Amino acid sequence: MSKGILTVVSGFSGAGKGTVMKELLKRYDNYALSISATTRDPRPGEEDGREYFFRTKEEFEQLIRDDALIEYAQYVENYYGTPRAYVEQQLTEGRDVILEIEIQGAMKVKQRIPEALLVFVTPPGVEELKRRLEGRGTESAEVIASRLKRAAEEAEGMDAYDYLLVNDVLEDCVEELHQIIQCEHCRVMRNAEFIKKIKEEAQALH
Ligand code: ADP
Ligand code: 5GP
Repeated sequence: MSKGILTVVSGFSGAGKGTVMKELLKRYDNYALSISATTRDPRPGEEDGREYFFRTKEEFEQLIRDDALIEYAQYVENYYGTPRAYVEQQLTEGRDVILEIEIQGAMKVKQRIPEALLVFVTPPGVEELKRRLEGRGTESAEVIASRLKRAAEEAEGMDAYDYLLVNDVLEDCVEELHQIIQCEHCRVMRNAEFIKKIKEEAQALH
């Protein structure tokens, strides 16, 4: 059984990452979405262990000390991090694992796991981003303003990603993400063992 692909999905807050992930998991079986730990408060409707593991600052800092996180970052005054055990287990079992994380975390993953696939999700334009953030109605005007400010910084890092995904029509965006990950499975560098086997078989024909 081949190992799964680790895909990192980043994008401006309000770009629609969460919505795209939910649809992807609904449509296809082989994806596992990593659940992050965070110190931010749950939004209405969010549950501990489903959207995030909601932790205190002290609990989060203990996870850091225990080396239980693949990466972590501070984002607009809160900690966010990726628990290691689940991701490693799912990859070994052959599932394609998705991390929906911000850009500093994405860069750390790329450094530590060079074969990770990095995808950046953006809405068609910044006006639409503002509309979506405001339309979601989960943050105060002040928090929305700091997230939009952060978006400007994040835009500077887009060049470091492997793929750009424009989330205009939701269904198309979900399908494109699925295709990107499926195509990655065909990369020569991800099929070293199979190639070795074919080479040996070809040699044996002589
Ligand atoms: P993120 O996880 O990137 O912060 P969300 O998934 O919460 O963003 O989406 C932000 C808002 O935009 C939500 O209200 C969501 O319903 C809406 N949205 C997501 N994708 C689309 C789309 N393709 N077209 C229109 N609205 C969208
Ligand atoms: P939100 O508060 O809107 O759920 O998430 C804020 C930002 O934190 C988003 O850009 C999201 O992708 C990012 N994020 C969520 N989990 C993690 C994580 O485990 N690590 C890092 N580095 N960022 C994360």
